[in-house]
Amino acid sequence: MTAQAAQRADLAVVIGLEVHVQLETDTKIFCGCSTEVADDEPNTHTCPVCLGLPGALPVLNEAAVESAVKVGKAIDADIPSETTFHRKNYFYPDLPKGFQITQYDAPICRDGELAVEVDGERRTVGIQRAHLEEDPGSLQHEGGSIDAADYTLVDYNRAGVPLMEVVTEPDFRSADEVRAFLAKLEEVLEYLGVFDSQRDGSLRIDANLSVVDAGDIGENGDIDEEALEAANRTEVKNISSHKGAQKALSYEATRQKNAVERGREVAQETRHWDESRGITVSMRSKEAEKDYRYFREADLPPLRVSDWKERLEIPELPDARRERFREEYGLSGEAASKLTSTKQVADFYEDVAAEYDPDLAATWVADNLLGELNYRDMAITDVEARLGEFKHLVELVATGEITTKNAEEVVLREMLDDGDDPETVIEREGLGKADEGEVEGAVGEAIEENPDAVEDYHAGEDGALNFLVGQVMAKTGGSADPGSVNGLLRERLDE
Ligand code: ADP
Ligand code: ZN
Ligand code: MG
Repeated sequence: MTAQAAQRADLAVVIGLEVHVQLETDTKIFCGCSTEVADDEPNTHTCPVCLGLPGALPVLNEAAVESAVKVGKAIDADIPSETTFHRKNYFYPDLPKGFQITQYDAPICRDGELAVEVDGERRTVGIQRAHLEEDPGSLQHEGGSIDAADYTLVDYNRAGVPLMEVVTEPDFRSADEVRAFLAKLEEVLEYLGVFDSQRDGSLRIDANLSVVDAGDIGENGDIDEEALEAANRTEVKNISSHKGAQKALSYEATRQKNAVERGREVAQETRHWDESRGITVSMRSKEAEKDYRYFREADLPPLRVSDWKERLEIPELPDARRERFREEYGLSGEAASKLTSTKQVADFYEDVAAEYDPDLAATWVADNLLGELNYRDMAITDVEARLGEFKHLVELVATGEITTKNAEEVVLREMLDDGDDPETVIEREGLGKADEGEVEGAVGEAIEENPDAVEDYHAGEDGALNFLVGQVMAKTGGSADPGSVNGLLRERLDE
């Protein structure tokens, strides 16, 4: 029996998340330094502001605020008319000012929610708050892990990159729900165009987990407030992926349940997720709010965003778009899901469906294009500049200029592998559809050359017609449409 299976069924897991997402802006949140730092030399994207030099003053990046307001609208949050910034004081070498500019009692978003689906069941996760803050720099421990390193280097390229911290209610009851939530959050943020999940370090998660008596959870999933307060919880830091979150939380749930079963108390502490060892390790007792000596950032005036809420539009979000695709285009749930997986895919589908049959468009975008891209470990964003060529390929199929089979198996694949446009591939491979005269000629030849098959056909043998179709296809180099060859043959044979 595994450790998990042996555990008491009357214990339940409660999880709440603090998710840091990087907002996609050209420049940092309080200075003009570029945020495109990925492969650049350390400390090349810095200035007096993000290095925290004396006398330097922060200037708030409007684009970061716009992104935050859009997120607030998307999660249906309250956006107060006035929001303020605070200093969170702590000493760590990656924090050049000795404090982080963040938001405290007046965050830009409060009381939002996001619906997720787990095992076909829809659940709404409450979002306590979502606020703006700056990223610290990054430390590089040379010669081993943090405790074994010979020395540590610090890079301030990331210092001042805009982050949004999304704090959920303790509404999760399993690691699977957490994973579904993270996927949904990323999907929504990418639809808004404020986030890039492919960017290194764009998502970082701190996960809080405690174990309570299952009896404290009501039928609707709500937890008794007192039980929630009383439960000792751990905060697991350093999680950087969906999979990491699921593994770290499964580990932590088992660890805490084991402790409770053995009558030991779970310590309220901060733990570190060690990805390579697959375990969480104790870091320190949990810091309390007073440790940070929060006070107002006097260098930034209060920010009034009331009219921004009306001014800033957000696109139709994935859930709504999925529903509309099912109704408007008559798509299956599965097809609608695939076609709304990213905004780019959904936009491209609608572009194609507007001109050709929506079912044909669905097959081409969801099955053929996404399938072939996926096979090559590519995404639609990798071929964004070539979408016109793919649309043209659908047109060639829709107007019967090439066969579906050739389009799928030859043209699309070579377009992706060689970077050619459809015409070039068709020309090179000689795939243009045979014209009517050519097909008729081939039908005549096939009949003339195969008297036995013709006899069998008249004797009512099914296989004979297929044989003759095959002969015509071979003569036309596969460029004829098998359905119409079939019809032509019947016509001639039945004359
Ligand atoms: P703190 O101020 O101690 O950080 P917060 O109220 O800000 O506490 O909550 C931080 C995170 O902890 C939130 O994501 C919240 O959902 C989560 N949380 C609160 N109580 C619990 C609990 N009993 N078990 C698990 N997570 C919890
Ligand atoms: Zn700077
Ligand atoms: Mg907190």
